[in-house]
Amino acid sequence: MATINPNFAKLPGNYLFADIARQVEEYAAAHPGDELIRLGIGDVTRPIAPAVTAAMHAAVDEMAQAASFHGYGPYEGYEFLRRAIQRYDYAARGVEIGLDEIFVSDGAKSDTANLGELFGSDNVVAVCDPVYPVYVDSNALAGRLGEYAGGTWERLVYVPCTADNGFVAEPPREHADMVYLCFPNNPTGVAATREQLAGWVAYARAHDAVIVYDSAYEAYISSGAPHSIFEIDGAAECAIECRSFSKTAGFTGTRLGYTVIPKALKRGGTSLNELWRRRAATKSNGVAYVVQRGGAAVYTPEGCEQTQATIAYYMNNARVIREGLQAAGLAVYGGVDAPYLWVAVPGAAPSWEFFRTLLHEAKVVTTPGVGFGPGGEGYIRLTAFGTAEATAEAVERIRAIL
Ligand code: PLP
Repeated sequence: MATINPNFAKLPGNYLFADIARQVEEYAAAHPGDELIRLGIGDVTRPIAPAVTAAMHAAVDEMAQAASFHGYGPYEGYEFLRRAIQRYDYAARGVEIGLDEIFVSDGAKSDTANLGELFGSDNVVAVCDPVYPVYVDSNALAGRLGEYAGGTWERLVYVPCTADNGFVAEPPREHADMVYLCFPNNPTGVAATREQLAGWVAYARAHDAVIVYDSAYEAYISSGAPHSIFEIDGAAECAIECRSFSKTAGFTGTRLGYTVIPKALKRGGTSLNELWRRRAATKSNGVAYVVQRGGAAVYTPEGCEQTQATIAYYMNNARVIREGLQAAGLAVYGGVDAPYLWVAVPGAAPSWEFFRTLLHEAKVVTTPGVGFGPGGEGYIRLTAFGTAEATAEAVERIRAIL
């Protein structure tokens, strides 16, 4: 008899966003006349920039001619895209990354989840709490986290990010082998400073740990915080970085991201760069040529200007939410370096309860903070990815019920 991976049975309930979608659908079915405003799931709403879609159209036309047709591409991504990433995302910030240290993928969700395959099943994992749930669930499935009881995983090191530490925790006292960091963070919307990241790099080096650094929201940083972990000295020997075109350039449906694994990163004498290359060759046939052409166009002067305008649009929404809810007396964090607002639930009510109040009374969909880990209890997350009109309306509706 085929047995199944027993770790699936340990996962608590549904994936967070599936749970929210079910509750919202039930509400919408019971109240068909209500117009809901969705500031819950982190999906973008603005279209892909014209310079980018033009490049994709041209790439489709290439596919229609025998002379310019592209079949299977390189596992690690086309060189034209890796060169653009190397030049504009790293060299422009004074960070030297080799072309063969960049691996193009279908996005940061798969990369951050799949990177666990490089590591032994007995590694100790540390995550910031609250955090994007994929790091935890993927490690639970790999059997690294033990049992789930009372809302926490037995073998997971939770590093609390609280209002007291400005939602950027210091490294823990405990030992960890794999550390997942996400800055600017989803859900709190807060970025880490150079000094804070240097503290994590020092921790990783002292513990021989590897940091998986998710910088999916680096394009939103406005405070001068580092965009890459590799801006920190010594990170090349202890960190991997994952990035995404999803929120930077509207590729949530188109799918494109990349991971940087420095050649200097070795554990037990083995190069993680070589392991990831081997894995890519075994498990992937790369990302669509048309999509990679679109990705490269994000770095052209027009593509860059147009995508920056979209980011500015979302960050204006973030400002509207932050200022509006603060004026209504709520404690609101984030929204400066990321399109997320982390809002303390008034009266210390549970976050699922406030989620339901906002859904039923304000007709606004949010995300309950506890879905991002035990440290998210007492908060809800709002996203700035809606239209400007819907965002302003949502803020008015929330203010009205407070
Ligand atoms: N990482 C973080 C922190 C995210 O919030 C998200 C999406 O919400 C992702 C990764 C997923 O990125 P992608 O669309 O590239 O898979």
